[in-house]
Amino acid sequence: MSHILVVEDETHLAEGLRFNLRAEGHAVEVVGEGETAIERLLGGREKFDAVVLDVMLPGMDGFAVVNKLRKARNYVPVLILTARGRPEDVLEGFAAGADDYLPKPFELRIFLARLQGLLRRSAWLAAPARPAGRATKPGETPAPAGAGAEADAEVFSFDGKTIDFGTLELRSGGHTIQLTLMEAKLLRHLIRNNGRTVSRKSILEDVWDLREDTDTRAIDNFVVRLRRYLEEDPSHPRHLLTVRGVGYRFVA
Ligand code: CA
Repeated sequence: MSHILVVEDETHLAEGLRFNLRAEGHAVEVVGEGETAIERLLGGREKFDAVVLDVMLPGMDGFAVVNKLRKARNYVPVLILTARGRPEDVLEGFAAGADDYLPKPFELRIFLARLQGLLRRSAWLAAPARPAGRATKPGETPAPAGAGAEADAEVFSFDGKTIDFGTLELRSGGHTIQLTLMEAKLLRHLIRNNGRTVSRKSILEDVWDLREDTDTRAIDNFVVRLRRYLEEDPSHPRHLLTVRGVGYRFVA
């Protein structure tokens, strides 16, 4: 059972989510405003395993909520629900620190599957040691041992830095930085293509799962953040290189 905070001001949708999440065996709390969500999440009384967050809320919007959480070093997995499903909006959500998104209207089974993915991540983060596999629910095909983790269990080291894709931690010179899921996914994609140029378009498709033509400069904001983590001098990067007019190249 997981403890899930639903932040949604449309009562009908909120109650539908509560009903279906409870049917899945989760404990659910619903709030209708961003400010209340922040109080619940940063108040420290209870621990939530995931947050389902609407963007268009009265007062503080969903992007501001997730941004505030990350600034407070709270890395609870956040699934954004947005009626504004344009790629720019989606990327704005990721830039704010969201872990996944679903455009409204969405199919219930897709919603539950995405949330399950985030909860799995949340369980790994909470566990003292990484489990070999993952729990299988009734009706679900059992995954081969470790298959749920796949490449997430990779640990990659270069130039005095270690990135653990299981815990989403980047260790560098005695510091540990907690990456968001999307930061880690982008970094892993670039590292897998070590030495090869990766186009912005392929990043959108492979990392963000967006196929639309869009203003791909939103990716640049992520790269700026990753450079702050990885580079000694972010304005003169040695590892995360810009390939003008095309995209990026990671060089270990
Ligand atoms: Ca709303």
